[in-house]
Amino acid sequence: MGVVSVVVMGIPAVRRGHPPVAGRPDTPYLLDKFGRVARDLRVSITEKCSLRCTYCMPEEGLPAIPADELLSAEEIVRVVALAVRELGVREVRFTGGEPLMRRDLEQIIAGCKAAVPDTPLAMTTNAVGLEHRARGLARAGLDRVNVSLDTVDHVGFARLTRRDRLESVLAGIRAAGREGLAPVKVNAVLMRETLSGASDLLRWCLDEGCELRFIEEMPLDADHGWARTEMVTAAELLDVLGARFTLTEAGRRDPAAPAESWLVDGGPARVGIIASVTRAFCGDCDRTRLTADGKIRSCLFSDEEYDLRTPLREGAHDADLATLWRGAMWNKWAGHGIDAADFVPPERTMGAIGG
Ligand code: SAM
Ligand code: SF4
Repeated sequence: MGVVSVVVMGIPAVRRGHPPVAGRPDTPYLLDKFGRVARDLRVSITEKCSLRCTYCMPEEGLPAIPADELLSAEEIVRVVALAVRELGVREVRFTGGEPLMRRDLEQIIAGCKAAVPDTPLAMTTNAVGLEHRARGLARAGLDRVNVSLDTVDHVGFARLTRRDRLESVLAGIRAAGREGLAPVKVNAVLMRETLSGASDLLRWCLDEGCELRFIEEMPLDADHGWARTEMVTAAELLDVLGARFTLTEAGRRDPAAPAESWLVDGGPARVGIIASVTRAFCGDCDRTRLTADGKIRSCLFSDEEYDLRTPLREGAHDADLATLWRGAMWNKWAGHGIDAADFVPPERTMGAIGG
């Protein structure tokens, strides 16, 4: 494979061939120049979605990826197996778009479970329709789900997601718990219009036995409406929750996870906050990403992508694909710099990368 880089204005810089690896130690793992090792693989499997959250998708949805450009179930299973066996990946999370939009999701999960039975398989989902698929997914080998839910207020939910599907989401969360996809973690993006309902959401999650984490909104919305001066910070949320609950700082539960946690009313229940903007955790990042059209991304915010799909379809051996992936991660940058004055958002939005 020759090294050809294609950079077109407004389109992520997709590179073909092996990236430069000068100085890279001879290790099978996904090491970068700053000493970080990627163990956590996020695989986006579709750009389609049943919701249109304002902080993520445009009203009309993302442009459709042509069917022949999407990785097939077999291709996804192959790259997941490769990542675990050759590159030291320890956890795989399926995301999107909305993973439930793929009819062959159960097949993808079952194939990955058969290929790498000891690797936890997780999914980030909006839970619309999960009620009807939780059992099949658990049987196929899915271990955990994170559900995105920003408010339990019907009107607020419909306004934020541009769809009236709250009941389906709540039923999906309960079904996931019943089927053992537990503990169900709930992720809520901090938005000004839902901030006053944050305490009700926490109450609901506590009552349902879910772990709730709030996430600061990042500049990854398709409508480019994000503004650093407008975003709700973790500090503001703590003020709102503190008016109803007694919160005691409990640090990070897992050193590799970015959520800082607080005990609620003395514990053991907790609430987490992922302050991705005001307290960036790039120094501890252990993620590597694959887009639905088969591009490796080392960071949510970097426009540099490496094309894995073409060599995969041209018959490359696992060893060659692994070398390509290692090089892509070796070239990962230090961090996103959202708080810097010269920050430029990436071309792909959250729904097109996979959060
Ligand atoms: N559709 C699934 C869902 O919503 O869980 C999976 C894909 S979604 C892109 C993954 C995660 O990204 C969700 O938890 C969502 O809340 C989060 N997300 C989307 N846009 C975001 C933004 N601008 N800032 C922070 N988180 C965002
Ligand atoms: Fe869809 Fe998830 Fe984006 Fe909401 S956050 S629009 S559910 S992909």
